[in-house]
Amino acid sequence: MAVNQINKDAIRDVCYTARDMKNVRAVSFNFHTPYPDTRELALSKEEKAQCCEVISQMMDEGVPVFNLKSAFPYLINNSFPTPCAQCLVIENGKISVCGRCIDVPGLCDECGYFFVAEYTLLFGGNLRVIFEMFRTYLKYV
Ligand code: SF4
Repeated sequence: MAVNQINKDAIRDVCYTARDMKNVRAVSFNFHTPYPDTRELALSKEEKAQCCEVISQMMDEGVPVFNLKSAFPYLINNSFPTPCAQCLVIENGKISVCGRCIDVPGLCDECGYFFVAEYTLLFGGNLRVIFEMFRTYLKYV
């Protein structure tokens, strides 16, 4: 789920749907990344913090969420390293580091992709992230 101004109040419902649907293993979240012409969908820092609080509550309830709580503060503050050098996207013969959005000036500073935060913190040696990723991946992968 990419959380934005339209759907930000649906996090709980999405979590419970993921929990209750037989063929769904878990839900994974992202925040809207403000691509050109979509800035109005982006969340403020305070809204991101509220969303992370709800997601944390869902995790505490045992809802299957395939994300790392330890990365939430970095996602709220956009303080994780970007781009993710370990991720490559190949499309139409072009290889991009991290995502197809790598060429948009300044966008990485506002990246909302949880996987980018999780992986760059992991590869940066963040011990809490390493431990939580190990535990989470053993559970869902
Ligand atoms: S860090 Fe990666 S996914 Fe995020 S905006 Fe930059 S290129 Fe896109």
